[in-house]
Amino acid sequence: MSAYDELRLELSEVSDVLSALNLLNWDARTQMPSGGVGSRGQQIATLSAIAQDRLASDRLLMLLDECETELEGLPEDSVERRSVTAVRQASAFYRRLSPSLTREFAALKTVAQEHWAQARAANNFALFAPDLERVVAFSRELAQAIGYVDHPYDALVGLYEPGMTAKRLERLFAELRQGLLPLLRRITDSGVTTRDDFLHLDYPVDSQRAFALEVAQAFGYDLTRGRLDASLHPFEISLTRDDVRITTRYNQNFLPQALFGLLHETGHALYEQGVEPALARGALTSDLMNLYAVAGVSFGAHESQSRLWENLIGRSQGFWAHWYERLQLHFPTQLEGVSVGAFHRAVNRVTPSLIRVEADEITYNLHIMLRTELELGLMDGSLLVRDLPEAWNAKMRDYLGITPPSDALGVLQDIHWSSGYIGSFPTYTLGNIMSCQFFEAACEQQPNLEQSLANGDYAPLREWLTQNIYRHGRRFTPDELLRRSTGRSLEVRPYLDYLERKFAALYSLERSSA
Ligand code: ZN
Repeated sequence: MSAYDELRLELSEVSDVLSALNLLNWDARTQMPSGGVGSRGQQIATLSAIAQDRLASDRLLMLLDECETELEGLPEDSVERRSVTAVRQASAFYRRLSPSLTREFAALKTVAQEHWAQARAANNFALFAPDLERVVAFSRELAQAIGYVDHPYDALVGLYEPGMTAKRLERLFAELRQGLLPLLRRITDSGVTTRDDFLHLDYPVDSQRAFALEVAQAFGYDLTRGRLDASLHPFEISLTRDDVRITTRYNQNFLPQALFGLLHETGHALYEQGVEPALARGALTSDLMNLYAVAGVSFGAHESQSRLWENLIGRSQGFWAHWYERLQLHFPTQLEGVSVGAFHRAVNRVTPSLIRVEADEITYNLHIMLRTELELGLMDGSLLVRDLPEAWNAKMRDYLGITPPSDALGVLQDIHWSSGYIGSFPTYTLGNIMSCQFFEAACEQQPNLEQSLANGDYAPLREWLTQNIYRHGRRFTPDELLRRSTGRSLEVRPYLDYLERKFAALYSLERSSA
């Protein structure tokens, strides 16, 4: 047996452990009784430690050395060599990271999430602040273990978005802000009020589910390799490409929530279902650094697909021109007398608001910039945890012109920091940016694409995405993936063009002179 075959065998077992971890997490969020929390935490910790030990082992290190010699003749970006590189990076990481540190952090996360929930319920930031201080301190240690040149944030954001740095983010976000803020001002100054009362009527959940699932299947979600459940927060999780699960959350009195939530998760699912079968149970369908079975190349690239299917397709005029009659069949009384144009405007209403997850396509990014800037400050020490609520509110005023009436509706709204995630927020906006760059390239390379989309035929788009993105799993870096499929590195322009085009039409704005 070659060293590489041995490595593959080793990795297939690590990958099985990660899939089992995903399954435990899926179960915890959809089926598990609340009493199971404690024992589930222990099971997850045990399996994580097993994966970590395998990746940090001396035997693996030896195998990696042998593989590197054995594969020297292959191209640097071959599946084999990229697999070895991914495992090498994980091995170095876990050998540097002391097991006691990871155990402490796992324990801290459990406590921090509990305190965060209490702090949010009591609207009392002080209940969560000490834990957050420890999360920040741990994240600094983590950044040390990963290594960085300029900013500790580079190491953290790089865990979720390989190749991204604080400097690059600052540049990208500055350009984005310069486009977004004037556009938002033109929209709010337009005086256009959008009616959306009909979205808040009684929409029976069964019909919501039936319609949304019909669309998901039309997009290409394969139910023989997937399933849909309900959960408190919508998510997608894959065990392998042949078992890719999604969830959504139903609100009987607000139609868009479950529908767009489901289209979003469908985008994530198409990515996972589209990976090449040969890559299954390997290093290129496993996020070894985050101990997570996932084929998507980065959080941002993954998010680009959920946003593409949810927003670029699901909130487009052409989409509703095709699907609206069908929706009306499900909800004849609720949508009686509501034109397709009025419906399309309602599901694209722009309004500065307090909560990130409820934000529209434009203001959403401002919520992300705010969080990213605060995280940068926390990591380099220029912002102290105790000053966070005030800094949060000041930025909300700056970007969105509103002041949160409480910390529960402000700095305490997201679960991320209590879960130990510092550095993941920017990937949501990176996903938005990428989605437009991919979509623009797909339209350029396939002249009939827009016609097929107008006919409700999503196969040509899905095929392009599969060929250019999905099938490769984690073989390429996000930048390589962009350059191979669009000819360019990440750029903000296609995204700003898209927003300008879409919202100038929706709000009858004078076209921007810029
Ligand atoms: Zn997502």
